[in-house]
Amino acid sequence: MLEIFLKVSKKFMAPRCVFAIYLPKMSGGGDYHVLPPSVMLAEYPDAPIVITASPFMNKHKIQVYLMENLGIPKKRIVNYGVYVKKISCYYLDHFLLIGKDSCDCCCNFHGAVPVVNFEKGGNPQQKIAKYIDFRNNLKKALNNGEPCVCSGCAKLKLGWHLESPPLETIFPVFNSICNLRCFNCVEASKLAKKGLLEFDADYFTSMVQALRDEGLICVGTKIDIGRGEISIHPERKKILECFENMFTKIHSNCVVYDDHLAQRLKHGKCVLTCSVDAGTRETYTKIKGADRFDSVCENLKRYSQLAKIKLKYIFFEGQNDDNKNIHAFMCLASKLKPAAVIVSKDRSVCLSDYALKQMSKMIVEANKLGIIYEIDGDIFDDEKKQLECLIKEGLL
Ligand code: SF4
Ligand code: SF4
Repeated sequence: MLEIFLKVSKKFMAPRCVFAIYLPKMSGGGDYHVLPPSVMLAEYPDAPIVITASPFMNKHKIQVYLMENLGIPKKRIVNYGVYVKKISCYYLDHFLLIGKDSCDCCCNFHGAVPVVNFEKGGNPQQKIAKYIDFRNNLKKALNNGEPCVCSGCAKLKLGWHLESPPLETIFPVFNSICNLRCFNCVEASKLAKKGLLEFDADYFTSMVQALRDEGLICVGTKIDIGRGEISIHPERKKILECFENMFTKIHSNCVVYDDHLAQRLKHGKCVLTCSVDAGTRETYTKIKGADRFDSVCENLKRYSQLAKIKLKYIFFEGQNDDNKNIHAFMCLASKLKPAAVIVSKDRSVCLSDYALKQMSKMIVEANKLGIIYEIDGDIFDDEKKQLECLIKEGLL
């Protein structure tokens, strides 16, 4: 049986305690302590509870566990929800990518992406109302067996989904230039041609306010800033200040050390993720298109002294999946003590047996070093199952 732990947030200890349930080693570190249920019940008998979990876990099960096994009344669960059995997917329920003229409901796993296009003009409230209609109609079609843009997608599941799901992750389409040219980047060449696209911080905050008015933003909603490099955007100070009170995930390549980014990290409620994807300078240069490995390592060291950082490793077959790179990357991780190491893959390809084996080696090494690992959502369920078997074998 899976062991369940409770995590208590340092930041919300007074006046409110926030609890989170998650599976150890499969979820991010965040700002939480870990407590067993017995301690939570004994030491925080009246504190409100927030259920947080890895996006792909079954929160319904956790809610049932809290209420039926631990006797927690529903009024104590801040993000209590009504679940219904239906077909949906995590992205359709909880994910939103906000662009200037459109909103995407998913991160393109399926080829065709559910997108709501906005007419020119129109206020944020009208745009968000159109998005809500679109999302509801899509779910109706899926559950009535009618063909739609999501039909046939491997991410769809018949299971317990929230009746009115709040958003868990909001991506502003940041689209700005980057100082690297990773060979796998879908954005880099497009953006390089277009030059800098101004990210409109005011437009984005008014859209977030409209989502809030519609009840789609909850306690744990996160802003996720990526797709382009925040640390070189001319408006980065304003952008970073916009989301000061929300949990913010920032993706940076850490090629430069930026004082505004450093300030935001110091402020709290913020995790920095850097996709290093290499353990050696040569491999880094080949993958990223620039010889910046040493400065990235140095900047990561500085940022890690201010806030939690996560190190990501995207496995590219035959490029960075050799023992030398894996071992060198884990040496870097052991020095930086990240909140987690995230293993990922190029989502356009299936992982070979060899790549899965190498990925499991990295995870086993992380485990030996006491570093939490996360398996990225880009890795499909069947690959994840194989990986978990390999990890078990490696840990024996
Ligand atoms: S079902 Fe597939 S295509 Fe539709 S939102 Fe989910 S991941 Fe995207
Ligand atoms: S660092 Fe990110 S945005 Fe920049 S080129 Fe690489 S993948 Fe693209």
